[in-house]
Amino acid sequence: AVEIRDLHKSFGALSVLRGIDFTVDPGQVVCVIGPSGSGKSTLLRCVNMLETPTSGKVVVNGAELTDPDCDIDACRRTVGMVFQQFNLFPHMTALQNVMIAQLRVLKRGKADAERIARENLEKVGVGDKADAYPAQLSGGQQQRVAIARALAMDPSLMLFDEPTSALDPELVGDVLAVMRKLAQDGMTMLVVTHEMAFARDVADHVVFMDGGVIVEEGPPDRVIGDPQHPRTRTFLKRVL
Ligand code: ATP
Ligand code: MG
Repeated sequence: AVEIRDLHKSFGALSVLRGIDFTVDPGQVVCVIGPSGSGKSTLLRCVNMLETPTSGKVVVNGAELTDPDCDIDACRRTVGMVFQQFNLFPHMTALQNVMIAQLRVLKRGKADAERIARENLEKVGVGDKADAYPAQLSGGQQQRVAIARALAMDPSLMLFDEPTSALDPELVGDVLAVMRKLAQDGMTMLVVTHEMAFARDVADHVVFMDGGVIVEEGPPDRVIGDPQHPRTRTFLKRVL
């Protein structure tokens, strides 16, 4: 679960997040939508402390990350993150990419790490690509390896930052299908996406951000289906 209270983030004079509040309950899928530059990635990066918030509170699985005494590395281990760019190690096979953090961070034995890696590659539909290098995989396959890599760490929360926006249109569906299945299996997910059909079908709650604040939020049928705020309407007209 995630709890965000009055979160602010500035880069120098630029105020990017200006008081964000919301929660993601266990098993919930929350989708964050909004125009470019509205602070969506910054928000996600604050949730696992890739950025340090300027003020406010971020609580992940009961641990307050914004508490100076918090063991950030330990907390971050429970959070999986999938980026727009897949960030796989180019000199490692898919299998090695999914094993490496298990070995180095979780100190799992090699046999366990390999078994768990294969299970997760299978789960996301690229079990037959274990020995392929990233350059030998399509974007959709690379992204699914990246998801398998995150899942192999047994996260209790998954963060996705526009995981399909770097993909060719015909590859988007495979990645969304994997995310849909994860959601059905009860994974807690915070997803920044421009895929409105996905948000509408899968999200329990949709947050529309603009200019570093939440302009409108609620169930997808309302926020996407029947937006109340003019800024939400303008944004949806552009992306739908
Ligand atoms: P997009 O949809 O294009 O990914 P976004 O909503 O994810 O946009 P952010 O990446 O969070 O937007 O950026 C919000 C603002 O913060 C932008 O004006 C950006 O230039 C600025 N910003 C982000 N990271 C930094 C940084 N490390 N240093 C300075 N400014 C930054
Ligand atoms: Mg972004």
